[in-house]
Amino acid sequence: MKELWQLLARFVPPYKRHLILNIIFNFLAAFLTLFSFALIIPILEMLFNVREATYSFMPLGSASFKDVCINNFYWYTQQCIASWGPVATLGALAAMLVVMTAFKTGTTYLSSYFIIPMRAGIVRDIRNHVYDKIVRLPISYFTNERKGDVMARMTGDVAEIENSIMASLDMLFKNPIMIIVCLGMMIAISWRLTLFVFILLPIAGTIMGRVGKKLKRKSLKGQQQWGMLMSLIEETLGGLRVIKAFNAEHKVEHRFHGVNHQFFATTRSVQRRQALAHPMSEFLGTITIAILLTFGGMLILSGSSTMNAASFIYYLVIFYSIINPVKDLSKALYAIQKGLASMERVDAILSAVNPIRSPEHPRSIQDLRGEIRYDHVTFAYNSERDVVSDVSFVIPPGATVALVGQSGSGKSTLADLLPRFYDVDSGSITIDGIDVRELSVYDLRSLMGNVNQEAILFNDTIFNNIAFGVPSATMEQVIEAAKIANAHEFIIATEQGYDTVIGDRGCRLSGGQRQRISIARAILKNPPVLILDEATSALDSESEKLVQEALETLMRNRTTLVIAHRLSTIRNADMICVLHEGRIVERGTHSHLLALNGYYTRLVEMQSMR
Ligand code: ADP
Repeated sequence: MKELWQLLARFVPPYKRHLILNIIFNFLAAFLTLFSFALIIPILEMLFNVREATYSFMPLGSASFKDVCINNFYWYTQQCIASWGPVATLGALAAMLVVMTAFKTGTTYLSSYFIIPMRAGIVRDIRNHVYDKIVRLPISYFTNERKGDVMARMTGDVAEIENSIMASLDMLFKNPIMIIVCLGMMIAISWRLTLFVFILLPIAGTIMGRVGKKLKRKSLKGQQQWGMLMSLIEETLGGLRVIKAFNAEHKVEHRFHGVNHQFFATTRSVQRRQALAHPMSEFLGTITIAILLTFGGMLILSGSSTMNAASFIYYLVIFYSIINPVKDLSKALYAIQKGLASMERVDAILSAVNPIRSPEHPRSIQDLRGEIRYDHVTFAYNSERDVVSDVSFVIPPGATVALVGQSGSGKSTLADLLPRFYDVDSGSITIDGIDVRELSVYDLRSLMGNVNQEAILFNDTIFNNIAFGVPSATMEQVIEAAKIANAHEFIIATEQGYDTVIGDRGCRLSGGQRQRISIARAILKNPPVLILDEATSALDSESEKLVQEALETLMRNRTTLVIAHRLSTIRNADMICVLHEGRIVERGTHSHLLALNGYYTRLVEMQSMR
């Protein structure tokens, strides 16, 4: 329960006003319930004709306030009976009951009316917080296995919080108020009888609590399995082509069914346990009523209590009217356990620390020249082995350095260290002599433009994709950038030109077109430093020519780091660094490296054989 209060303390403050109104209306509703039921006593007494005494009007202050009210109410009722007859009086009392109930249900509605914005709002806030955090967490957080799980947390767990905790909030504030107010009245009627209730209710509560605890643990397991399911779906959607090509449908189906079955087993057990809440509380409630009936009946029959039959019935009616709130409360507490399990999982994302942070007092670069220096850089993804070891090189302002080497030699890793997607373990990377860790992350990244092997586009218009990093871009600027990127022609040939929506990840465009749009995006951003994860390797030769031209325009006068997959495209680089197992083994220009007749020559030979 402590976790629940912590959760509320974190998310409720913006909705304080709603909560206060909700509590006020809950109190009103509880008191109106008491008073509407209190009308039953005179009705019953009239029917049973038990009050033979005659009443005279009591002025205020002649007895306790409660006695004065009760006495005068009876006096007035008798007056009414005398002048209208008992049937009309009964009708008037019944009509009052209806009016009171109308007020009561009205206030109950108002209490829900005010808590609903808080309930839905908190879920909205949690979803926003998680999304913001996802966008800000470093790339290293989202390994392939994690993506599906993160999605599961964002969707399934947030929905679970909504369905369980937030749906229970109403009951959490309403029911305790109702219970407290009713218990107060019950004590006023008969403290001895209520003492029983006080002994019985905690016993029932403890029994219910036991079941609830287990529920949370199981629910946590269920959500983890849901995460695994999402990971599998995400992996399957990404790998459908391979699954089909290798006739692996049965294999993946088998794996999915297995995990899905485990999830089913956990859900079954969670739901069965949750279904226990209602029957169990009903059973325990009935036991309590049975005991109350016996004990209360005994008190009246023995004449040892001031309570008469009508107040006893009123007592039972009130008690009955708190049974439902108690039941709902117990159901709510069960549901909250389930929701807290999900909250724990969502919190794991919210509280994840981001190791890539801007320094407290970032330095700024004035008059950027654009010299990049890798100085004895070493980096490992995990402590097992260094992926990059002791790498040093300099890219003079405006020059192009290419990284070549076999796949897995660490080229992409080296490039990712520059915009601080990861931080170096030792050594340093500087721009104009300033360590990248001393700049603010925002400033650092605004110096850089990226063009990747696989163009990363969003399901939006071409205009918005090109203007992605430059919110203030005008149509003229975007067209200008597209022209330089050799993209303008094909864009205006599409149906809606720059307003064409390009589909999920740009699936309605060819590889070369996607690439030219991402180049136009980099051109528009106009960064002094470029990182190219060689952008032409996946293209046919016609598109390659267009893209290559566009790239050359882009690289002009910019400090550029190129990851080269095809050696033919980097002949003109100012320097080529040959990487082998994370170390630079050769460096120089194309012709210099060929003359060495070493790693580079072998790489060239391997490629020309293809
Ligand atoms: P290249 O770009 O030259 O193909 P990479 O820099 O992508 O090489 O990878 C270098 C090495 O680092 C490889 O052995 C690869 O398995 C490993 N690696 C790459 N990314 C990760 C990652 N996110 N977590 C762990 N290891 C990684």
